[in-house]
Amino acid sequence: MSATPDDTSRSNAIAMQASCEDDYDPASLSCEQALQRLLDAVTPVDGSERVHVRAGLGRVLAEPVLARFAVPSHTNSAMDGYAINADDLPASGTAELRVVGASFAGKPYRAPLARGEAVRIMTGAVVPEGADTILIQERVEALNDRIRFDGNHRRGQHVRRAGEDLAAGATVFAAGRRLSAADLGVIASLGIAELAVVRRPRVAFFSTGDELRSLGEPLGLGEIYDSNRYTLHGMLSALGVELIDLGVVTDDPARLEAAFRAAARDADAVITSGGVSVGEADYTKEILARLGEVRFWKVAMKPGRPLAFGRLERAWFFGLPGNPVSVMVTFYEFVRPALDKLMGTTPRLPWTTSARVTQGLKKRPGRVEFQRGSLRREADGTLSVTPTGDQGSGILSSMSAADCFIVLPMEATRVEAGSLVEVQPFHGLF
Ligand code: AMP
Ligand code: MG
Repeated sequence: MSATPDDTSRSNAIAMQASCEDDYDPASLSCEQALQRLLDAVTPVDGSERVHVRAGLGRVLAEPVLARFAVPSHTNSAMDGYAINADDLPASGTAELRVVGASFAGKPYRAPLARGEAVRIMTGAVVPEGADTILIQERVEALNDRIRFDGNHRRGQHVRRAGEDLAAGATVFAAGRRLSAADLGVIASLGIAELAVVRRPRVAFFSTGDELRSLGEPLGLGEIYDSNRYTLHGMLSALGVELIDLGVVTDDPARLEAAFRAAARDADAVITSGGVSVGEADYTKEILARLGEVRFWKVAMKPGRPLAFGRLERAWFFGLPGNPVSVMVTFYEFVRPALDKLMGTTPRLPWTTSARVTQGLKKRPGRVEFQRGSLRREADGTLSVTPTGDQGSGILSSMSAADCFIVLPMEATRVEAGSLVEVQPFHGLF
C-alpha cells in the first residue's frame, strides 16, 4: 500500500521527534525482562479483613468460597407452562391431562403428581415430585381444567436441575480471586453475606519537579500544573488500593529524601513521577540507591525508558518518568501487574490483539514503542487502528483520545500502512 502525502509528513514528524529523544542503550532491559523481574520480586501483602459482600467488588478473596448447599437448591421450571410426567406424552396424535393445581415461584405445589395429572407452573417454581418435563404454554391447548398437547416434546425439557449452577460442597472461588459483579451475585446466591478479603495495599505517591504547581495555585512562567498525580489517582482508584497522596516535592535532595522516608514508613508501595532520567535535577535513582535498593532503572521502551524499580525499606518502589504519557504506559505495562501481585491476585497483563494500521509509522530500532491508537471495526468486520494525533510523550490528550496502545516491536523501523500491528485495548482500564 502506498502512503498518502499526509501519512508521509506525519511519519517524518514522528521520526524527527524520535531522534530528539534518548538513543538506544544496550544496558536497558526489554519490557519482558523488566516485567519478569517485577513479578519475581513482589509478594502479596499479609493481612485480611471481613467485608460485606456489597463492599467486595474488586477485592481479592483471602479464603475460598465454598457452596454449603446446591444452587439452585430445588429443581425448577425454566419456562411458564405445565409440569407433566413425560410418560404421559402421546406416541402419536394428542393427549389430555387434568390440571390439578399451580406452582408459582416461591409458592410451590406440594403434592406429588399422579399419572394423568398436570400442574400449571411458572418460571422459577418448584417442579412437583413425579413431574420431569415442562410443556411451554404456547405449545399447549388449555381447555377449562384440562390441557391438550401433542407428542413433540423431549423428556426433561425446560427443567433446571437442582445444583446445575453450583454443586453442594464445591469450591466456588479459590483464595486469590478478584471479585467481579457476577461473583458478588454468585456469593449472594449461596446466602453468604460476609467475606474474608486481603487487606488493600497502601500505595503512596508523589510528583517531583520544581516546575510543578498543585491545583488552586497560580502558575508562574515556565510552571505547569501537576497532572500525573491525578492520572495516578484515577488509575490507582480503579485498582482498589488505599491511596496516600503526598503531593508535589521539589527537586531538592533533602526534601526528596524526607518524602521517600515518609512514604516508605506507611506504604506497601511507593510511586513517584519525574526525576528518574539523568538530568542534573534528577535525584530519584540516587536516593533510592542510598536508602534502599535499585533493581533496574532502564527499559528499552518509548515512552517510559527511565523506569526505576527497587526496594525502599519494606515498600516496593516504582519511579516513573515525568512525562504524562510515560506515566500511563509504564503504569499499565508494569505497575498494575506488580500491584495485582501485591494484592494477592493473578497479575493482569495487557490484553493483546492485532489490527490493521491505517497509516505508515516510523520508529527507531532497539526499543518497543507504545503509540496511542483508536480502534475501529471496518465494514468487512476486521479491526483497524489509527494513531491519535501527535505521539509526543508529553501529549496527554493523545491518551484521552485513545482506546488502545499500538505496540511496535523492538527491531522494527517502519510499519507500512495497511499492515497488521499488535494493539493493547484498554477498555475499562483508565
Ligand atoms: P522529568 O522526568 O522530571 O525530567 O520530567 C519530564 C517531563 O515531564 C518534563 O517536561 C516535566 O515538566 C514533565 N512532568 C514531570 N512531572 C510532571 C507532572 N507531575 N505533571 C505534568 N508534567 C510533569
Ligand atoms: Mg523533573
